[in-house]
Amino acid sequence: MIKALRGMKDTLEPQNQKYLYFIEKCTQIVNRYGFEFISTPILEDTALFKRSVGESSDIVSKEMYQFIDKGDNDICLRPEGTAGVVRSFVENKLDRVGGIHKFYYHGPMFRYERPQKGRFRQFHQFGVESFGVSSYLEDVLIIKMAKDILDTFGINYTILINYLGCDVCMPPFKEKLVTFLDTQEDLCEDCQKRKRTNPIRVFDCKNSNCQELLKPAPRLNQNFCENCKSDFSEILKLLDKADISYQVDSNLVRGLDYYSKTAFEFVSSDLGAQNAVAGGGRYDKLVEYLGGRKTPSIGFAIGIERILEMIELPKKKRDGYYFGALCDEAVDAVFKEANKKRVASSVTMGYSVKNLKAHLKAADRQNARYCAIIGEDELLNKEIWIKDLSEKSEMKESFE
Ligand SMILES: [Zn+2]
Ligand SMILES: [Zn+2]
Repeated sequence: MIKALRGMKDTLEPQNQKYLYFIEKCTQIVNRYGFEFISTPILEDTALFKRSVGESSDIVSKEMYQFIDKGDNDICLRPEGTAGVVRSFVENKLDRVGGIHKFYYHGPMFRYERPQKGRFRQFHQFGVESFGVSSYLEDVLIIKMAKDILDTFGINYTILINYLGCDVCMPPFKEKLVTFLDTQEDLCEDCQKRKRTNPIRVFDCKNSNCQELLKPAPRLNQNFCENCKSDFSEILKLLDKADISYQVDSNLVRGLDYYSKTAFEFVSSDLGAQNAVAGGGRYDKLVEYLGGRKTPSIGFAIGIERILEMIELPKKKRDGYYFGALCDEAVDAVFKEANKKRVASSVTMGYSVKNLKAHLKAADRQNARYCAIIGEDELLNKEIWIKDLSEKSEMKESFE
């Protein structure tokens, strides 16, 4: 027997109903904010992720689902959604058109990590990317939109927010930080590496010894330039005014190298241990990194699998028709009438001839509202006998 690949899984009902319900609700919400659907390929040039996500990130250094194809191309199954959307934005010259472009996407992402409980090599994300707005009002709007989505599904969360500085204040801060890190010989191996590649990512280290050693480290929020200081405080004020509660978390640097300025995460304890369910931030430099014109950009992504575990489907109402025949002679008529009804309703049909009780049972199993039956008498009178399974009433409908 051929099995699914390690770390990959099929999804069946009721999981898929939940998935579609989630996407439908998210789409409704982001449409209200003016976002349009974008679809980019699942496979991309490996260089795209190396350049955008960054070589220092765990994703690129440890988790890429990467291989050489038959044409000797170094390619990769996308580990996240932003890089592909930005590549598409630049390749389709939208950076040259100018103006504001807002996209949402959803679909499978891939990471080649050791499969463990609840984590798969193929997983799904819903995300948004907004291009062309530099105002911090957009940052607040994006956070509000993520909040709208999680609120719709009744998920409990805390919003963690941080500000990662800009080209003016970040480089001198990094120097200051590296000087401090050089005095800390007991940092873990990963942190030693980060010191050279992207030092602020040491704050992201999960190692408790590192966390302890970093306590006296210089903090970015004490080293902001005037612009960053005022923008960050305006953002927090706007969140306060919008009644959006948050916690400033100076350790929040996000796993990806391309973030600058606003970074945020929604963490939830609804499934036990506190976990990020959504995260995002500003990446004003990424479009330029990928060969486009400088374009301010911000976005977020939501991990779908985790959210689906937290949401419950609204109870489905009975809907549509189930058609059944009581005798062989009625099968043709049932087939024809079922097809007619399908123009306006969802319709299923029992192919084998059964007695009424068996058909009613089948209609109930299908969660159909109406059980429509044709037998010898109905065939003679050119009528369909219909039982409304919600109202428990019966009626007749004539046919040609
Ligand atoms: Zn700054
Ligand atoms: Zn460390």
